[in-house]
Amino acid sequence: MIKKKIIPVISLISIFLILLGIAIYLQNRNSSAATTFFAMDTIMSVKAEGPDAPKAVSRVEQTILELENELSVSNDQSIVYALNRDKHGSLTADTKYLFEKSLQVKEMTGGAFDICIYPIMDAWGFTDKNFRVPNEDTLKQLCLELSEATINVDNEHNSVSLSDTAMVDFGGIAKGYTSKVAYDIFKEMNISNALINLGGNVCALGKKSDGSLWSVAIKSPLENLDYLGILKISDKSVITSGGYERFFEQGNRTYHHIIDPKTGYPAESGLISVTIVSDDPTLADALSTAVYVMGKEEATALWNENFKKFDMILYDDNNRLYITEGLKDDFTSELEYEIIEK
Ligand code: ADP
Ligand code: MG
Repeated sequence: MIKKKIIPVISLISIFLILLGIAIYLQNRNSSAATTFFAMDTIMSVKAEGPDAPKAVSRVEQTILELENELSVSNDQSIVYALNRDKHGSLTADTKYLFEKSLQVKEMTGGAFDICIYPIMDAWGFTDKNFRVPNEDTLKQLCLELSEATINVDNEHNSVSLSDTAMVDFGGIAKGYTSKVAYDIFKEMNISNALINLGGNVCALGKKSDGSLWSVAIKSPLENLDYLGILKISDKSVITSGGYERFFEQGNRTYHHIIDPKTGYPAESGLISVTIVSDDPTLADALSTAVYVMGKEEATALWNENFKKFDMILYDDNNRLYITEGLKDDFTSELEYEIIEK
């Protein structure tokens, strides 16, 4: 009698456990997670959907904080700090990739992007926020030293050496690389879609859960305009550089943080906002800085040679907006704009 009652109870428990298992599995499969935190001097927010999303998002946050410690120019425990002090050091997987990419972009932009810019950033006080306008002779001397600075990457011994006066600063490329690292972690952890927003530098993985493309608002350099336009993307990075991002005022002038390596002064190329769109976030970040220095004409020539690698959205000091041909089907704006064609 007792036995007969126990068997249905056991089967009920088993069915319950199986259903619970299925529910947990389904919930995990579609789970989502998000986090917002401060790193690399900016607000970062990351969101993801897919199995293990909470685990993946927290791994990404942890990795970004570690990268910040590794690449910081001011933290005396960082690898970059030690390299700038000792002029010699071992390469990590991160610095190896960053040196390679930085040197490639220096080459392709005729030196508009140069990570040896650090002593000039320091002279302006951008490294410690003790802002000042350096005198002309100081800048001339620093530009001369910059033009002679060398970085020797020794892949065989996994090490790097800098010439005596050289000091490096990955500030113009680090956030792009960081979004690549985050993207790779999400891919490896089978995340189905994610949006990585590192202070307005956006990298999208896959499409939104409803199957539509991500919409990214392109930051506006103008106070009376929220954004320059909207770009639809999937598996791409959208990275913007603008002089309005970080600057200080002295006398009646403003001085911003993107420096022309040829003059030592904040770049005045006529462009006031540069957005680079690419499936290579590290390239996009370095190019956003370089194109800001180069100006529209030189940047157009660069794009013509590399249109498969990136696209651009440019805004100049005459309030003209330009986009390159590759974006024409995905960009909308209330402003008038010109399409740069090959
Ligand atoms: P943000 O950091 O505001 O996103 P950028 O990506 O344009 O903007 O990077 C600007 C940073 O790049 C500066 O703070 C400095 O660390 C570095 N930098 C400035 N000028 C150059 C340059 N010509 N080449 C390489 N790096 C630069
Ligand atoms: Mg940049």
